[in-house]
Amino acid sequence: MKHEIIDALESSLGDMNGKEQLSYLKDIAEYLNNNGQDVAQKLAERISRDCILQSRCPDCFSKLEITTFINCAGEYFGSPAYERGNEVFCPMCGWGDK
Ligand SMILES: [Zn+2]
Repeated sequence: MKHEIIDALESSLGDMNGKEQLSYLKDIAEYLNNNGQDVAQKLAERISRDCILQSRCPDCFSKLEITTFINCAGEYFGSPAYERGNEVFCPMCGWGDK
C-alpha cells in the first residue's frame, strides 16, 4: 500500500520539471513526517463523510438501507402520540444497527 500512495503522488506531478517534482515530493515527505497522523485522521473522516453522502457503509462500502419506524411517544391531550424516524444500516455487515 505504501508504494501505491507514492505512485499516486508521482502521477499527480503533472507538468512539473524534474527539480520541481523533487522539491514537491520533498515538501510532502517532510509534511507527512510531521503531520502523518493528522493526515490519516482527516482522510478517514473524509471517507466516512463521502460514504454517507453516497449512501454507502463506511466499513464495507455496500449500499446502506433505510427503514422507517414509528414509536409510541406517550400521550398528547389524552390521545396516544407517535414519533416517526428513520434508521440507516448496512445489510451486509450490520453497521448502524442498534
Ligand atoms: Zn457494511
